[in-house]
Amino acid sequence: MHEMSIAADMMDQLLRIADEQHAVRIVEVEVICGEMQQVVPEALQLAFEAVTVDTPAAGATLKLSEERMVANCRSCGQRFEPAIDDFLCPHCSAADAELIAGQDIVLKSVVCEIEDEAAKT
Ligand SMILES: [Zn+2]
Repeated sequence: MHEMSIAADMMDQLLRIADEQHAVRIVEVEVICGEMQQVVPEALQLAFEAVTVDTPAAGATLKLSEERMVANCRSCGQRFEPAIDDFLCPHCSAADAELIAGQDIVLKSVVCEIEDEAAKT
């Protein structure tokens, strides 16, 4: 499952962040899914719950938002929003576009509970 490998990659990043921040718990994770990745939000949510079991991110809230694809036409220089199966430039019909947004899964923000703060409360 595509979403499972995305969740596993996210988990690697989360553990690194938790380690750097000396976090005892990860509370909330905000992720931007590029349209090109064709992520099914429900599937990613389930995969996330599966990979976070017995980790500091267990029970964390996962916020997903999708980023539309944006392409830059190399032929006429115009920007446009391509469809997943149609990368032709609507301005000059060239099939020579460079994707400049919407292709990646990006960890936008992570809310952690830090050790010291936990001790205070
Ligand atoms: Zn063009």
